[in-house]
Amino acid sequence: MKQAGLNDEGINKLLAIKKEVTKESDQELAADVVVIGAGGAGMAAATTANQAGKTVIVIEKASKMGGNTILSGGAFNAVDDGSETAIANKDSVEKHYTQTFEGGDKQGDPKLVRTLVENAWSGVVWLKSLGMEFQDGVFTVTGGMWPRAHKPVEPEGTGFFKTYQEYIDKNKGITMVYNTTADELIVENGIVTGVRCTGKSGNTITVKAQNGVVLATGGFGQNIEMRMKYNEISKKWPTLDASIPSTNTSGITGDGMIMAEKIGANLVQMENIQLLPLGDPKTGSLSGNIEHAVESRIFVNLDGKRFVNEGGRRDEMTLALFDQKDTTMYIVMDSDTYPKGDELNNFGESIASLVSAGRSLKADTLEELAQLMGVPADNLIGTVKAYNRYCKDGDLAGTADEFGRTLFSDTDGINNGINDGPFYAAVRVPTVHHTMGGVQINELAQAISTSGEVIPGLFAAGEVTGGIHGSNRLGGNALSDTIVFGRIAGTSASNFARQE
Ligand SMILES: Cc1cc2nc3c(=O)[nH]c(=O)nc-3n(C[C@H](O)[C@H](O)[C@H](O)COP(=O)(O)OP(=O)(O)OC[C@H]3O[C@@H](n4cnc5c(N)ncnc54)[C@H](O)[C@@H]3O)c2cc1C
Repeated sequence: MKQAGLNDEGINKLLAIKKEVTKESDQELAADVVVIGAGGAGMAAATTANQAGKTVIVIEKASKMGGNTILSGGAFNAVDDGSETAIANKDSVEKHYTQTFEGGDKQGDPKLVRTLVENAWSGVVWLKSLGMEFQDGVFTVTGGMWPRAHKPVEPEGTGFFKTYQEYIDKNKGITMVYNTTADELIVENGIVTGVRCTGKSGNTITVKAQNGVVLATGGFGQNIEMRMKYNEISKKWPTLDASIPSTNTSGITGDGMIMAEKIGANLVQMENIQLLPLGDPKTGSLSGNIEHAVESRIFVNLDGKRFVNEGGRRDEMTLALFDQKDTTMYIVMDSDTYPKGDELNNFGESIASLVSAGRSLKADTLEELAQLMGVPADNLIGTVKAYNRYCKDGDLAGTADEFGRTLFSDTDGINNGINDGPFYAAVRVPTVHHTMGGVQINELAQAISTSGEVIPGLFAAGEVTGGIHGSNRLGGNALSDTIVFGRIAGTSASNFARQE
């Protein structure tokens, strides 16, 4: 347009006319249940409501389903109480409860924590009944504190959405409305009856629910203003400004919390924001993260030394990382998890491709690895030697190390320390990962108001809710949360009948 001689004002006028002309007409849609957000919790709710015989409309601002859930490592904590796996790992639902509750500094609502751990395994069974496949056995995900994470066969979180899409294709009654952003909840006579949205072309789309509305818009990891505002309350992190990246997808901006707060919902524990020490230094994403399970790797600072219990809490690990030089560390491991080099990490990348892209370092000896890392070789060699003493066959096996670490490589049965070259290292920084605060709910996933009352017609599930994980979420518990509370929200919204 500039070449045609138009100035900025003329171009803006033309663009405004074009927008007006291409704007689609406003729409009114209706279904029994309306779900806002097509991530893990939203799709679990939509599928459950449909299984209960309801028509469902799912509103999603992105162009496809998935949210953060599709990016996830897929680690799904659940204990099949009394099973061979649970017995072999000395695990139980009770232990899952205690670790979740205490791992969150006892800030989680005990009733919600109970609901989570007691229904996590039936969530796996439900997913399997829909056709989703899981690998055998369990593993310890970073910050999961115990080997109880189930891993889907499909990479990352893709298995969930393949399963939901197949369900939608086979069954009538779930309508997906993409590229549509929910803006405000509609309240009539004190009951939440629907949601007003903006479509792709800027048109208004009003969606009404005959039964309930489920809020499942995820957290606020990508909303820097909210991160900073709430971190001011806890002052837990030195800063959460734009210099700290996030693992989250860009649309995770706290919309659901903002919408719910406007109609009187109680937001709880918003200051509980989780960081991971595992971000890619350029993007903050978890891609390029070479670890598989907690037991087989260590974290090393730029002096070539360990500095924290790598099997401990996520907040403790990340706070310790903030105290290290350049807030930077390396994950260091040997070739036990990558014997051939074409094996994939938890994010579907082969170690060979990461090495050739310069995102992972590889060396035949620890001395050479230290050179590539730019850390003193003596320190790295000494660090690994000291660490190996606690692993299987080491003279200190079975005892906790100086950082309190108890999860060593004997528990996964794979290896006996970091001693089989080639050796690998990958650089990592702190990254905003999960927001534990949000809309208060009860065990029926009903949203609660600031005056402590149930908000009729409004249900919430997944990261948009608060008060389950407390101050620190256990790794692998968020996916269980999406399925457990997503299913409950789908059932509660289906059962909700307006008294008119
Ligand atoms: C990289 C990564 C790895 C992870 N790995 C694990 C793991 O292995 N195990 C584990 O337990 N947890 C993991 N987590 C955490 C877990 O994935 C999330 O907490 C969980 O998936 C959140 O699910 P959700 O359904 O609440 O939200 P999401 O899956 O994020 O879905 C929310 C959806 O709502 C949509 N939305 C938002 N606002 C609006 C609006 N206004 N209108 C319409 N739609 C809207 C979004 O576009 C999105 O699709 C990981 C997280 C990340 C980012």
